[in-house]
Amino acid sequence: MTEPAPGAPVSMVLSAPTEQVFPTLTAAQVARIAPHGRVRRVERGDVLVDMGEQSLPFFVVLAGQLEVVRGSDVAEEIVVVHQPGQFTGEMSMLSGRRGLARIRVREAGEVIEVSQAKLMALVQTDSELSEILMRAFILRRVELIKRGSGDVVLVGSRHSGGTLRVKEFLTRNGHPYSYIDLDEDSGAQDFLDGFGVRVEDVPVLVCRGKAVLRNPTNAEIAECLGLNAPLDRTQVRDVVIVGAGPAGLAAAVYGSSEGLDVLILESTAPGGQAGSSSRIENYLGFPTGISGQDLAGRAYTQAQKFGAQMIIASSAKALACQRRPYAIQIDSGQAVPARTVIVATGAAYRKLSVDDLARFEGAGVYYGATAVEAQLCREEEVIVVGGGNSAGQAAVYLAQASKRVHMLVRAEGLAETMSRYLIRRIERNPVIELRTLTEVVGLEGGDRLQRVHTRDNRTGAVETLEVGHVFVMTGAEPTTKWLADCVVLDAKGFIKTGPDLSHDELTAAGWPLARAPHLLETSLPGVFAVGDVRSGNQKRVASAVGEGSTAVALVHQVLRE
Ligand SMILES: Cc1cc2nc3c(=O)[nH]c(=O)nc-3n(C[C@H](O)[C@H](O)[C@H](O)COP(=O)(O)OP(=O)(O)OC[C@H]3O[C@@H](n4cnc5c(N)ncnc54)[C@H](O)[C@@H]3O)c2cc1C
Repeated sequence: MTEPAPGAPVSMVLSAPTEQVFPTLTAAQVARIAPHGRVRRVERGDVLVDMGEQSLPFFVVLAGQLEVVRGSDVAEEIVVVHQPGQFTGEMSMLSGRRGLARIRVREAGEVIEVSQAKLMALVQTDSELSEILMRAFILRRVELIKRGSGDVVLVGSRHSGGTLRVKEFLTRNGHPYSYIDLDEDSGAQDFLDGFGVRVEDVPVLVCRGKAVLRNPTNAEIAECLGLNAPLDRTQVRDVVIVGAGPAGLAAAVYGSSEGLDVLILESTAPGGQAGSSSRIENYLGFPTGISGQDLAGRAYTQAQKFGAQMIIASSAKALACQRRPYAIQIDSGQAVPARTVIVATGAAYRKLSVDDLARFEGAGVYYGATAVEAQLCREEEVIVVGGGNSAGQAAVYLAQASKRVHMLVRAEGLAETMSRYLIRRIERNPVIELRTLTEVVGLEGGDRLQRVHTRDNRTGAVETLEVGHVFVMTGAEPTTKWLADCVVLDAKGFIKTGPDLSHDELTAAGWPLARAPHLLETSLPGVFAVGDVRSGNQKRVASAVGEGSTAVALVHQVLRE
C-alpha cells in the first residue's frame, strides 16, 4: 500500500495550492453546512462510500480522519487523508456520476453527512461555500486526470481510429484513465493475443476494474462509467436543449439558473467544436486564452450546479413536431417530451481524412483564418486547403504576413467554386502558389505540426512540405438532418429563425400563431435555434454563448403564452 507523505495531506504533487484543492473550512462555514445533513459517529475501518457507487453523499470531518483510497485491495493507494474541517468529494458529487474512490474511516470520530440533493441546494444558495467546494471539486478532478488515475484502463494503438475516438471521448468528458500502448508494450500485445482479442477488437477498455469492453461505442462507455444519471422519460421538461457546444451549454446555464427544468442531450461530449480548440484567444474575459475543453468543463459544472441534467453519448435522432408537447427521439429509441426545444447542434467543419488530425487541431491545423491565427504563422509558410470563397479569402489574408501560401485544391481549378475577384487576386499575388488536383495525405510532427505530405493526383507523386500551419477551409455542414421537415432551412441546410423567415415560408410551414416568430425562434413555435446551426450566425464562441442565453429569455415568453 502506498501512503501519503508524512504530514502532507496527499500523496501527489499538486499543480494548484493545497489550500485550494483540500481546503479546511472555518468553524462558521462548517456550522452553515450542519443543518443540511446529519452528524454521525464513525468507527475506524468503516467504508462510507465504495468505488463505483452513484449519488454519493458528501462528508465533512468534525473529528477523526477519513482516507480516500484507490486501487484494488492488494494494491491500495491512499490518495488523501481528510482532517477535521476538510471535506470529501470531486466533480462526481454534482454530476451524479459514479465515485472514483473508496472513502474509509482512518481514525474514529464524527462526520456531517449531506445527501447529493441537499448539497446541490447548499451550493445554489451559499455563494461562499459554493466557490470553495466548486473550486476544490474541479481541481481534484484535474489532478486525477493529470495523474491518469481513474477507474479505467485503455489498451490501444496509435494506428487504430477507435483508440483515438475513445481517448477523445474520455478526455473530453473529463474522465481520468490510464493508457497502455500496444505499439510500445509488446507484452501487452501478447497478453491480448492470449485472450483471443482480434485487431478489430482494439481498443480494449477495462472499465471500473470489472467489465472488459472490446472496441466499445461511446454509449457503451457512458453506460459502464455511469456518466449519465437515470433519465425520467415521462417528465415533460420546460426545455430540452439538443447539443452541448457553447450555445447549448450557455442555454443550460441560464435556463437552469432561472429555474427552468432543463435537459441537455449531447451526442459525444460537452464542448462541441470549441472543445476541439486548444486555445480560444478571443473569448471575452480570458486575456491569456482558455482551452475549449477547460471552458466546456467549467460551463458543464456550472449548468449542473444549477440543476440541469445532461445525457452524454445520446443523439437526438428525430423531433416529433406534429403536436405539443414536442418529443425528441433519442438513440435508444426512447423519446423525451418537451414544452420548448433549443436546437444547438452546431455545424461540423469538414475535416481532412488523414491520421493524427485531432492531435494537430489547434497545434498547426486551423479552421479559421483571423488575426489570431495569422499572427502564429507570421513570416512562415502556410497551406490553405479548399477552393471556395472562404479558402480564397484566407489565402489572400494570410499572404499579407506569411512567407508563402500553398493553396491546395482537389479540383482542376478555382473557376467553379470561387468568385472571380478572388481568383484574380490569387493569380496576381506572388506569395500564393496554387496547386490544383492536389490534396493533403499526411501530417507529421511532435507537439505541433512540422511537415505535411501532399499528393499530386495527376501523377500520384507524394511531396513533403516543411510547413507547420494548415488552414482547412473546406466548409462546414450544419447538423440538421435529424430535424427532417420540422423547420425551415436555408439553401445550405442552416435553420432560419425570426425575421429571416419570410411570410411565404411561414405560411408554407403552417405557422399557427397570430404573432411572428421571436428573434431566435424557428418556423415551429417554441423551437429555437442558436449558435452555428442557425442561418446567419457568426461562427464564433461568443455569438453561440450570446444566442444560447438570449434564447432562454424567449423560452420564458413562450412558456407564459
Ligand atoms: C478547431 C476549432 C477552433 C475554433 N476556434 C475558435 C476560436 O478561437 N474562437 C471562436 O470564437 N470560435 C472558434 N471556433 C468556432 C467555435 O468553436 C464555434 O463557433 C462554436 O463552437 C459553435 O458553438 P455551437 O454550440 O453553436 O456548436 P458546436 O460547437 O458545433 O456544438 C454542437 C454540439 O451539438 C452536438 N450535436 C450535434 N448533433 C447532435 C444531435 N443530433 N444530438 C445531440 N447532440 C448533437 C455536437 O456533438 C456538439 O457537441 C473554432 C472551431 C473549431 C472547429
